Amino acid sequence: MDNIVVLKCACGTVKGTLKIVPSSLFHAHCLCCDCQRFAKYLNNEKSILDEHGASELLQTYPAYMNISEGEDQISAVQLTHKGIYRWHTTCCNMPLANTMGASHIPFIGVSAKLMQFATEQEKLDKLGPVTMKAFGKYAIGEMPKDVHEKFPTSYIPKIIYFMLKGMLLKKSKPSPFFNGKVPAVKIKRLGNVKS
Ligand SMILES: [Zn+2]
Ligand SMILES: [Zn+2]
Repeated sequence: MDNIVVLKCACGTVKGTLKIVPSSLFHAHCLCCDCQRFAKYLNNEKSILDEHGASELLQTYPAYMNISEGEDQISAVQLTHKGIYRWHTTCCNMPLANTMGASHIPFIGVSAKLMQFATEQEKLDKLGPVTMKAFGKYAIGEMPKDVHEKFPTSYIPKIIYFMLKGMLLKKSKPSPFFNGKVPAVKIKRLGNVKS
């Protein structure tokens, strides 16, 4: 099916699929300090971040992502107290996706690094262009001109609509990262130590 993108980690152990629903996604670059910290935590910044420190994500509903192989090579970390869960592979230290800490929130930010495309054009055709570039104030070097300094406020109504639609359509489930309400693996918490 042409709206399905194959997902594969850098070493090929973790595999899955992502359903692309153009009306239910945000193709984003996030330059925030936590996404950069996550890449550092994985000790894999060169493979994960672009030259400005951006992580490329496709934000969509958990029900659209499926992991079919390598589930035992998945781990997750919470960088800050009450922060999002950041799921990654342990075989090759690649990001998989970000989710909220609660399984009923219909949101997942899938790493574009997993997505397999034959050409850049195929990627553009399937995902569409990057429409949201956020948190440019954390850029490595000079802030690129097309990146919003923080979070673009024009997106807030779109995100609210996306969340409400996801709740109404129950798109938080099934999630590849939760068994019911319980995270599929123990979350490593870095943020609970008060500094
Ligand atoms: Zn791997
Ligand atoms: Zn971020």
